[in-house]
Amino acid sequence: MLFSEATEVFEKMSRTTKRLELTSLLSELLKRAGDDLEYLVYLVQGKLLPDYRGVELGMAEQLILRALSEVSSLDGEEIEEMYRKTGDLGELAGQVVSSRAQGTLFRQELTVKYVYDSLMKVATSSGQGSIRVKMSIYKDLIMNSDPRDAVYITRIINGKLRLGVSDATILDALTLSFAEPGLRDGVSEAYNFYPDLAYIARLLREGRIDDVLKIGPQPGVPVKVMLAERLSSVHEIMEKMGGRAAFEFKYDGIRVQVHVFGGQVRIFSRGLEETTGQFPDIVRAVKEEVKVESAILDGEAVPVNPETGEIYPFQVVSQRRGRKHDLERVSEEVPIVVFFFDIIYLNGRQLHREAYGERRRLLRETVRESERLRIARTLVSSDEGEVERFFNESIEYGCEGLVAKSLSENSIYRAGARGWLWIKLKRDYEAEMSDSLDLVVVGAFSGHGRRGGTYGALLMAAYDQEKDEFVTVCKLGSGFNDEMLFSLPKMFQQLVTKEKPARVNSIMEPDFWIYPSVVLEVRGAEITLSPVHTCAMGTVARDSGLALRFPRFTGKIRNDKKPEDATSVMEILEMFRSQKKKSVGE
Ligand code: ATP
Repeated sequence: MLFSEATEVFEKMSRTTKRLELTSLLSELLKRAGDDLEYLVYLVQGKLLPDYRGVELGMAEQLILRALSEVSSLDGEEIEEMYRKTGDLGELAGQVVSSRAQGTLFRQELTVKYVYDSLMKVATSSGQGSIRVKMSIYKDLIMNSDPRDAVYITRIINGKLRLGVSDATILDALTLSFAEPGLRDGVSEAYNFYPDLAYIARLLREGRIDDVLKIGPQPGVPVKVMLAERLSSVHEIMEKMGGRAAFEFKYDGIRVQVHVFGGQVRIFSRGLEETTGQFPDIVRAVKEEVKVESAILDGEAVPVNPETGEIYPFQVVSQRRGRKHDLERVSEEVPIVVFFFDIIYLNGRQLHREAYGERRRLLRETVRESERLRIARTLVSSDEGEVERFFNESIEYGCEGLVAKSLSENSIYRAGARGWLWIKLKRDYEAEMSDSLDLVVVGAFSGHGRRGGTYGALLMAAYDQEKDEFVTVCKLGSGFNDEMLFSLPKMFQQLVTKEKPARVNSIMEPDFWIYPSVVLEVRGAEITLSPVHTCAMGTVARDSGLALRFPRFTGKIRNDKKPEDATSVMEILEMFRSQKKKSVGE
């Protein structure tokens, strides 16, 4: 496939403000890709391989500017000046190419595969002379591009493609192109165990639906982790779980997935990135204490006080949880202990469809507890008083509360899903809502008075998983310190867009639309009905959505969460309903 066929569609995709149109444009394009489908699926994501393969594209801005000056008759200053005007490297490259278009007679036709291979060379060339190599490959691409191709090649190489598609959008488009609509859930499940969209795309295109539906955990391939629902009392949890459940300490650290295979130990984050290098002590401990041929273990890495052996809640060590450099610093300064709570693969056997009780038994057999490796503390009980005491013990120990786990026969490991098989119970720190929300910034309102020159408030959204859209929940103006407040415009500079992004569903019109990317932790007083917010619009009452009242930023930017990991509409609906129950004294 010619790359220009793809960019023609990319352009339409960037212009649409409708989610359905976005999916159908993409689906048409994928259908036409033929043997280039896999390359195209990566490029649409602005990637060359899934994140966990560790191939990072990204050519420094300065190099791109230099290359553009070298392929044109413009000098460095002129290029810089043009860049200042457009503010978008892609646009700039497009302008450079149009200004010299007539001059190029013998252009090599750029295919999707050619562009992919060239970008792969850019990403993987390293060491001495690599800057020259990267520059010359980029220049070759630009010289053979038409203006539109140049825009997109440059955006991809600069890590800023932003077509507005999520993994779910691509899965929708793939199902639309190559499978029956009824298979969409099965395709998602497969993807959650094998998060490589191009691999799934290839199987679907080859008509190998059965192989897709059989996909389960594989050592070396990170799975999307299972998540918990939330309730605010032991009583509610007992009711939901049928009167008896396992309760585990909820450790406040960083989720780790530990894969053991072929004599290696590899660790992946919740965001599916490889983090093995950050936990040398854990790797060593696993090699010593987990004597198996292969396994995938799920757990939480927590810093401990080296003097007392007590765990540190993560906030004490790092205000900015999930930041890679912070974690590196932390693991250098304080020892890390991993508390394991699940196992989904053992010695060649997939365990994701086994019940929780069986997985737990195998976990105990597999992990020999040591200073660095522990198994999450658990209580199986049907006695609410006993669970309350266990909850208090967890808080005293430095945990966030408990995670209840269903003991039913179908308590399987549901990758990437937030469901009722696991329910979290957190401490009600303030007499407000028992949990914070993680919301995505989708817009901003100009500030006035003291906030002149920065934003007065941000428009915040939750994620609607059914529709794969971002729906608004509140305007967020408090909880920012001055330093943060005045750094906002810079922080969002590259994310501001003129048009409403296609997957944002909003009644409010902010002064600036912001491409969904940044997730902030927000607390509020309660969830109320609102005619101006689109979260769960029309579900609870006609012409009303749900909104967060008195929202306040907690100071935590959730760098560990993608926009699609934000609090979901379902969760907000649950919060609204449980609030209502309490207020009528049920
Ligand atoms: P939060 O911000 O409350 O941690 P979250 O969205 O990050 O929420 P949830 O699925 O809601 O994640 O809560 C479960 C998280 O708690 C897991 O992702 C995991 O990191 C952590 N955790 C700690 N201990 C346990 C445990 N025993 N079982 C399951 N998860 C645990």
